[in-house]
Amino acid sequence: MTDRTGRWEIAEYERLAEIAISAVARYVEESQAGDVPVGSPPPLPELVERLDLRSLVREGGLDAERFEPWLGRVLEHSVRLHHPAQIAHQVGAPDVPAAIVDLVHGAINQPMSIYEMGPAAHAMERVVVDWMTEKLGWPDGAGGVLTHGGSLANLTVLLAARAAAAPDAWVDGVDGTLAVLAPPSTHYSVRRSVAMLGLGERAVVDLEVDEYERIVPAALEDALERCRASGHRPMALVAAACATSTGLHDDLEAIGGFCREHGIWFHVDAAHGAPALLSPAHRQLLRGIEHADSAIWDAHKMMRTSALAAAVLLREGWRLEAAFRQRAAYLIYEDSDDAGPSLLERQVECTKAPLGMRIFMNLAFRGEEGVGRYVAERYDKTLRFWELIEARPGFECLSRPESNILCFRYGRDPELQIRLREQLLRGRRFHLSSTEVNGERWLRMTVTAPATGEETIEELLDAIEETAAAA
Ligand SMILES: *Cc1c(COP(=O)(O)O)cnc(C)c1O
Repeated sequence: MTDRTGRWEIAEYERLAEIAISAVARYVEESQAGDVPVGSPPPLPELVERLDLRSLVREGGLDAERFEPWLGRVLEHSVRLHHPAQIAHQVGAPDVPAAIVDLVHGAINQPMSIYEMGPAAHAMERVVVDWMTEKLGWPDGAGGVLTHGGSLANLTVLLAARAAAAPDAWVDGVDGTLAVLAPPSTHYSVRRSVAMLGLGERAVVDLEVDEYERIVPAALEDALERCRASGHRPMALVAAACATSTGLHDDLEAIGGFCREHGIWFHVDAAHGAPALLSPAHRQLLRGIEHADSAIWDAHKMMRTSALAAAVLLREGWRLEAAFRQRAAYLIYEDSDDAGPSLLERQVECTKAPLGMRIFMNLAFRGEEGVGRYVAERYDKTLRFWELIEARPGFECLSRPESNILCFRYGRDPELQIRLREQLLRGRRFHLSSTEVNGERWLRMTVTAPATGEETIEELLDAIEETAAAA
């Protein structure tokens, strides 16, 4: 019933929105209650079939009538992030205010990189970025930009670090002398960024880590020696707050001190852990981040926005613009008080979604304190789950958790952990992940859904024992 001119049929919008909102509301409600299976998708070709995708994409045919049952099938085959037994990955169960932003943006479309193409959304990004640099404890002159995810944020930061170390690289390319110091446990996007920036993957100098894959500060000197001995100079050193696979934090204070002493750009990958700054009881986990030259911060993990919304943050904001326009670096520096109406010189994207609006809305409705409380409650629950698991014979945890990520295992057989995970997924009652730490295989949980409770974990441990006994 679309108007032939392509103009909106307002009644169609209202009808579809009504159907979608009520279906999604029911979906979240039953997910939270935990009385539906948590997941396990059919094989991809089967799902393409079940949702009629090939015929719909060619012939169309959806209308308000058919939309309702069809959307029901789509939701049935969607990951239920609000489900108590959804403890697999780091993406958050979105909160209501951010969810509404996506509904609004989907209709009004605010490509806000340039102020005039989304004034309100643009203003929100500016305010959110300023707020984040304040939370990091950085001085005036700090700045940044929002971008589509932590991976792109790491790339953007390393581009700025490259500009600082080799200002001519933008025009001349790199000369093969730059290196990036990072632990083997660093997020894969760091290694990938180094390769994409033309340094070559071999330019990553491995930092020594302990049995929990945390950087050993006492061995930094040695890594720097190795770096120099091979004819390289460090462009940046990357630490994690917290590490993706273990949820543990590097010692930012010690590492930051080393970097300052040696004039090395200190980058903290705080994609997951930065929001702990909002919890008075947990912000000490990031002690030392105030000394960093750069950090990244994902909001679609612990700040409960939909994917994606990430921040690139720099202690000296002008260095971000220098990253994209080396030759004009001085001009930009002199102009840096004038924020200007465009974000194009700070980011990879041209058109960009109104990412700041998602973050802003959660803060505006819940307050800094409410968002901080959400983080604190997830972290505290995970600590409680650690106690439960440690108390069960046959189970052990990698370490006391420092975040909402916890590695544990049943027995020590690596094959068993993988079999357990696969069988639990097939059972459709639990969705958890698995990882390797220091060469050993672990099951891994990330506690994001507010509905996950002690009974969820007791049931999970029961299910693991039963599955192992039946194998
Ligand atoms: C999740 C994560 C990333 C990647 O972020 P995306 O938003 O998924 O691209 C990078 N670093 C760390 C430490 C992470 O936890």
